[in-house]
Amino acid sequence: MNNLDWQRRTRASVWHPCTQMKHLEGLPPLPIARGEGPWLLDQDGNRYLDAISSWWVNLFGHANPRINQAIIDQLGRIEHVILAGCTHAPVVELSERLADLTGLSHAFYGSDGASAVEIALKMSFHYWRNRDKPYKTQFVSLRNGYHGETLGALSVTDVALFKDTYAPLLRQTHQWPSPDWRLAEPGESAEDYARRCADQAEAYLAECADSTAALIVEPLVQGAAGMAMHHPVYLTRLRQLCDAYEVHLIADEIAVGFGRTGTLFACEQAPSPAAAAGPTRVSDIADFLCLSKGITGGYLPLSCVLTTDAVHQAFYDDRVARGFLHSHSYTGNPLACRAALAVLDIFAEDKVLAANREKAGRFTARLAPVADHRRVRHFRQAGMIWAFDVEHAPPHFAREFHRRALAQGLFLRPMGNTVYFMPPYVVGEEEMRLMADVTLQLLDSL
Ligand SMILES: *Cc1c(COP(=O)(O)O)cnc(C)c1O
Repeated sequence: MNNLDWQRRTRASVWHPCTQMKHLEGLPPLPIARGEGPWLLDQDGNRYLDAISSWWVNLFGHANPRINQAIIDQLGRIEHVILAGCTHAPVVELSERLADLTGLSHAFYGSDGASAVEIALKMSFHYWRNRDKPYKTQFVSLRNGYHGETLGALSVTDVALFKDTYAPLLRQTHQWPSPDWRLAEPGESAEDYARRCADQAEAYLAECADSTAALIVEPLVQGAAGMAMHHPVYLTRLRQLCDAYEVHLIADEIAVGFGRTGTLFACEQAPSPAAAAGPTRVSDIADFLCLSKGITGGYLPLSCVLTTDAVHQAFYDDRVARGFLHSHSYTGNPLACRAALAVLDIFAEDKVLAANREKAGRFTARLAPVADHRRVRHFRQAGMIWAFDVEHAPPHFAREFHRRALAQGLFLRPMGNTVYFMPPYVVGEEEMRLMADVTLQLLDSL
């Protein structure tokens, strides 16, 4: 069976995500037969560089021998078991290691990012109820924020294309201005703008803290907003405000966790909010940390909400209803947890963060002609994420750019007029050259 056969069959039977199915008439999906490192191979034997890590999930390449081996080993022991009434080594070890890495001591598991967001929102609300503050029921998020597509997560998402149709089904939530530095006034630094946004947040809390349970943010990079980046001091200021006004801070690191922004977790880049400055830990910033996407290296669906002793303690009681009675069938799946443990091993054994810093420097240098191109605005980078906006973008720019890059073996999905690279960490010189060269050429021809 070749590409054409699979394209016909998939259009007849598979309802593809985030897709107007009619558009597949002109641009059918790639039938992928196998993966090798950062490369995808289709049924006809063509190869494409997976420059967006299969929707931001892949870290160490496709068919990674070490992650494969961890899963194969786990398959021979136990593939899955109920986590209510049972436990197992992979879920305990993963929870302990994530607690060590973040300072957040308790881990609750789900399967997708959106379910982690639901869990964090419900836990925050229920915490205030258990602490005799049942009037704290409202959530705040940021303009252009993205937190997933289920009804609760969509309520705190602020992307009109995904949200407007379903507005009658959603909870009302409040959005604060985005600290995205592209929105700074002329002459205003990214840091000054971040502080100004935090001041506006304070004005809101001064009035509405009593009804507010939690604030949810994407630390450092608002991914679906078009890789909008902000100054890390914003996170420090939010923590100080959340302390002063008794509001939870939910850090949604579903996209930015696991090294994407250069540190293992993005919150670590915030200047320490405490007077005694030391390296910042996630627990210095967040009451809840949502993780998914890269957690299994892009292998298996797994998400996790990490939280504090203080939150856990508020649920610890003889009365059943004060417990957190939430569940998903595949909670804490052993295969997924073993993949996640293999990912953490690779980070430690290969000193991945240091290697990425060096690699990122080389790719940024290679992208200099793109950054300097006359049509490029707001070239930006954080760790292993690069993005820029294209001026005078023709209609359907994103789809056309995607189609033409694909013809040259590069798989990208621009958002509006923003082009971004978010490659697996295993890209080498050949891959960096391909991304830079094809992009430069398309900027001149499209
Ligand atoms: C992808 C994403 C989600 C949703 O995760 P899913 O696994 O797609 O449900 C939530 N928040 C952020 C920041 C994301 O990037």
